[in-house]
Amino acid sequence: MTLKFACRDGRAQLVVGPNNQLVDLEIASNGKFDSNPNNAFSRWAELREFAASVSPSGDAADPNTLDAPSPSPRQVFGIGLNYRSHAEEGGMPIPTSPLTFTKFPTSVAGPNADIPIVGNAIDWEVELVVVISTGGRDIHKESAWSHVAGLCVGQDISDRALQFATQPPQFNLGKSRKNYSPFGPWLVDAADVPNRDALPMHMTLNGQEMQRAVTDDLIFSVSDIVSYLSNIVELLPGDVIFTGTPAGVGGSRQPQVFLKPGDVIVSTIEGIGTTTNKCV
Ligand code: ZN
Repeated sequence: MTLKFACRDGRAQLVVGPNNQLVDLEIASNGKFDSNPNNAFSRWAELREFAASVSPSGDAADPNTLDAPSPSPRQVFGIGLNYRSHAEEGGMPIPTSPLTFTKFPTSVAGPNADIPIVGNAIDWEVELVVVISTGGRDIHKESAWSHVAGLCVGQDISDRALQFATQPPQFNLGKSRKNYSPFGPWLVDAADVPNRDALPMHMTLNGQEMQRAVTDDLIFSVSDIVSYLSNIVELLPGDVIFTGTPAGVGGSRQPQVFLKPGDVIVSTIEGIGTTTNKCV
């Protein structure tokens, strides 16, 4: 059975059965696991074994009531220009190492969180989002997937005005406004995703398709990124990586299109899930 993991009211949940029912981890395990999601990520192999024994019960998961599957990460990384198509549309050179920035953890939001529109240059970026299980330093590329708990779909919402307000540009703050890092709806165990290096991904804005890609177009793969980052910083259980967005963002369109209150963004990675974000 595929392990799917979510978080509601700050408590770790398993998502079980064909109807995606939520099972509270601490209660179902009689306290063997506690309610803190980061503790579950650090015991991911054990959790996988336990989850196989859990039967569906409880409410069907409603993405509107879920937190991000890793709601309190200590580090959130973003990778820029990681699809050739996106680098080219922005007229930027293809990076020769992962172009890494920070999304501060206070920007993390649930899968269907509202996006507050601040100013007139707020942009969408659909992305494959990775959550770390057992972290560490100096992780080899060959074993990198064994340090990944699972995969989600997310939006790296970006304030382009803030991102390019200074020279040289500095991405961190423009990517970190309130609710600018929504992801979910749950995390799917990476070990159970057969095509984890080639996932079809797309997003619509008000029903119109804006971005479509397959993650095998990533310049730096998930394994590359996990290995690269861990050679510099220690990766910790529950850390989150936004792996980059393909072509089709609003700022690279002619004319440019930016988000406005009332807009609805629907983001999907096939086999993983869908998130829906309303701009307010
Ligand atoms: Zn991005």
